[in-house]
Parts: sequence; structure tokens; C-alpha cells
Amino acid sequence: MTEMFKNLIAGEWAGGTNASRNINPSDTNDVVGEYAQGTVEQLNDAVAAAKAAFPAWSRSGPQERYEILKKASDEIFARKEELGRLLSREEGKTLAEGIGEAGRAGQVMAFFAGECLRLSGEVLPSVRPGVGVEITREPVGIVGMITPWNFPIAIPAWKIAPALAYGNCVVIKPADLVPGSAWALVDILHRAGLPKGVLNLVMGRGSVVGQALLQHKDVHAISFTGSVATGRKVAEACIASSPMKKVQLEMGGKNPLVVLDDADLKIAVECAVQGAFFSTGQRCTASSRLIVQAGIHDRFVEACIERLKGVVVDDALKAGTHIGPVVDQSQLDQDLKYIQIAKDEGGKLVWGGELLNRETPGFYLQPALFTETTNSMRISREEVFGPVANIIRVKDYDEALSVANDTEFGLSSGICTTSLKHATHFKRNAEAGMVMVNLATAGVDYHVPFGGRKGSSYGPREQGAYAKEFYTTVKTAYTLA
Ligand code: NAD
Repeated sequence: MTEMFKNLIAGEWAGGTNASRNINPSDTNDVVGEYAQGTVEQLNDAVAAAKAAFPAWSRSGPQERYEILKKASDEIFARKEELGRLLSREEGKTLAEGIGEAGRAGQVMAFFAGECLRLSGEVLPSVRPGVGVEITREPVGIVGMITPWNFPIAIPAWKIAPALAYGNCVVIKPADLVPGSAWALVDILHRAGLPKGVLNLVMGRGSVVGQALLQHKDVHAISFTGSVATGRKVAEACIASSPMKKVQLEMGGKNPLVVLDDADLKIAVECAVQGAFFSTGQRCTASSRLIVQAGIHDRFVEACIERLKGVVVDDALKAGTHIGPVVDQSQLDQDLKYIQIAKDEGGKLVWGGELLNRETPGFYLQPALFTETTNSMRISREEVFGPVANIIRVKDYDEALSVANDTEFGLSSGICTTSLKHATHFKRNAEAGMVMVNLATAGVDYHVPFGGRKGSSYGPREQGAYAKEFYTTVKTAYTLA
């Protein structure tokens, strides 16, 4: 019998008539679990529970919130191997990556446990004699969260933790494809002592549960991570609702990694291969556009191919695997479609791109590397979200920067160079929310802001102390002394 995992509504585990099967992409015969598919009624109950819990929770003291988040972080750290295994089994990233991500969720919880004790305000003299001014932060209210499948525990953690730390109540709808890690996280927080209704989980389809969350009049704010297409719908729904909802969107990327002639070749290859292909290229910060100066181009291509020869694509849970499978058939179809598009556009496939057979049935794809591409091709402009990258040859730094910035996205941007002048200029002029020098475009810290510009992000930053910009609202109070 496969276990059925339920929704958490008003502190109780609530089932339903429908469930979806969570399938292991490394072995499609392996069912991770059956997860309840929430209904609109359940979503309404969850929002009502959050609304009922809000007055007490928003006034709870920092010590209570600190203790709950700290306890949750301690349990995550203690169980990170097991949680990492679950994550790798349902999403397909390697066990090392899965355990690393579970550990990241623990770090995020610990950071925001500390933030509970650091919330502060300001006291200022008024411009009017005898009047005092206080500036304080209050919770936003009921926050709805909609999350994607590619970081199934870290993203729910970095939304839920600040929301709770600053006194909000939460209704989260995780990705329907990969709900297991979010379920485990909510279970940990629930058992850590959250009062009933403060944190509610409603799993299910975006078009049903997600849509109902966006339209609910008692939800004050929505934090969304996912594709640009869905993000646009989320923003439209938040503005159309009455009252309008505060909204934060983290979306896709087409992140450039510039490699200049003076780069350390070993570092550049590592940044490119790690950034483009690890985690199966299924990262919003993946280096999918490699912009390479002519003088190093051929050596760089040759060294990337040599490095890729040693990369093992196999079952995510197997020792020795570097890259796990693609998450599901529909993402695999998308990856293969873009590989064909790149070929049809005149790109030269110099490595990979073919389906692989392994011991178990799964969505195994050899990472694909293209050369002879230009920045106007679709492969350079549209997010693939798979292990597919293309190299664009440029003549000098100025062209590299201009190509790097010539995109609708603006999440992460990287440069490999030994020139302080170019590194400094790039940091100042890359049109991206995050800039990396001699580092892969993917891979960030948890105590500093995360987010992008242009089509990649909308609204305040996530993570670190900057998260309070979204999860709190500022009040200015005047008093006649
Ligand atoms: P997606 O947009 O398909 O789905 C994201 C979430 O939205 C899911 O929970 C889904 O069920 C829900 N949803 C879908 N339609 C909805 C609707 N009409 N109303 C409400 N909710 C709806 O994205 P995905 O395929 O899960 O994730 C991949 C995308 O996420 C990529 O574009 C990637 O770049 C992006 N991403 C961005 C970041 C970031 O921080 N910038 C991080 C990770 C992933």
C-alpha cells in the first residue's frame, strides 16, 4: 500500500477524494507516495484557518517564534540525509545535491529564527515641535505561497521562514509534481509547535488550488516562484483582486557566463559545466548562455568536452552519479524540442543531447552543448530549463557585455577573467540581480538578498534580512508629546 500524504488545514491533516502519484524520475516504477489533491473548499478552509490564527500569532512574542523556527531547523539538520534522499528520489537531483538542499532549508530556518529577535523600528523627531514619530514594521497578514518543483524544500523554506518570523500566517501550495519535500517541511514546522492555522498546506493543481488562492479576498500577499508565463497570470490576478494583493515574483532566467581570453581556463570550464549542467540544468540561475571571447574559444570548447566526458548521468540516488535525470516526461520533451530547435537554427551540437538508457526506466539525457550559435537564436533567448547550453563567440569584452545584457531576463550573470578592470566594470554594468566573478551563475548564500531584474523578478527581494520588505508593512505613527 502506498502511503497517502494529506493537506494540513487548521492544524489537522485533511485527506480528500483525489490523490496524485509522486513518481521517481530515476525509476518511473518507484512511487514515492500518493499526495492529496486539494479542492477549492479545502483552500477556503485553509485561508479561514489562517485568518482565525492571525490575531494571536501576529502579536506573539519574538521568543515563541524563535523557539519554533529553531526547533524546526534542529530537526531538519538532524534528518538532512533522510530529507535529502526523499528530495532526490522525487525531483531527481543527486543525493549530494538533495542533502545540500535539505541542509539549506535548515540554515534558512536558523537564520530567520535569529531574525525574530532582530526586528526593529525607528524613533525620529518630527519636523513639528512637540511631536514624536515612530516607524514600525507589522506583518502583512495572510500570505499565499506558490512554489515550483526544482527546489522543493529550499524555496518553501525561504518563503515560510520569514513569513512566520515576521508574524504572518501562511497558506502554501507547493508544486504538484514534487510535493513530498514541502509536505515534510510543513510536518516538521507543525510538530515544532506552531499554533493551529498559522501554517496551512494545500497541495494540488495550480489551475485549481493556485487560482483559488490568488482570487481569495482574505489573502493579503502572494509570494510566487515559477515560470514567467505563470508569474504574469499571478501578478494580473493579484492586481485584479479587491483589495489588491502585495505580490513578489521570482521567475525564469537565461543567465550569461562570459569567458574572457585572460580567464583561468580550469576555473572557467568548472563554472560553465557546473553552472550549466549540474542539478540537470534545472535551476533558474543556470548558465545557459556561454559567451566566449574568440582567443580562448576553441581551447574552452575542447576543455568543456573533456570535462563532460567524465560526467556521469545516472540514477540520482546512486553513488558516483554527477547529474540525475530530467524531472519528468514533459520537461524532457521540452529539452529535446529545444535541442532540435538549436540544430535547425544552425547550432553545432558538439556534445551530448541524446537519451540514455540506465538500469531503471527514467528520464536520462546526456547534457547538450552547442557551439556556432548567435544571441538572436531561440536557443539563446528562451529558457529551456534543462541540461542544454550554447556557446556564443564574441570578439572582445564590450561585445561580451552587450550580448550578456541583451536578454529579457536578468537573474544572474557571471564573468570569468583575471582582469580586475573587466571584473569591476562587469559587476557595475551587468543588468542582473546577482553577479558572479570566477564563480558559476548558480550557487548563492542564504543570508543575503536573492532575486533578479527585468523579466526574471518582480517585487521585493527574497532571503536574508531583505525578506522583511515583502513580509512586513511599514507603519508611521505620530504622537503629540
Ligand atoms: P510553473 O510556473 O509551471 O509552476 C510554478 C507553480 O505555479 C506551481 O506550483 C504550479 O502548480 C503553479 N501554477 C501553475 N499555473 C497556475 C495558475 N494558473 N494559478 C496559480 N498557480 C499556478 O513553474 P515550474 O515548472 O514549477 O518551475 C520552473 C520555473 O520556475 C522556471 O521558469 C524557473 O526558472 C523558475 N524558477 C525561478 C526561481 C527564481 O527564484 N527566480 C527559482 C526556481 C525556479
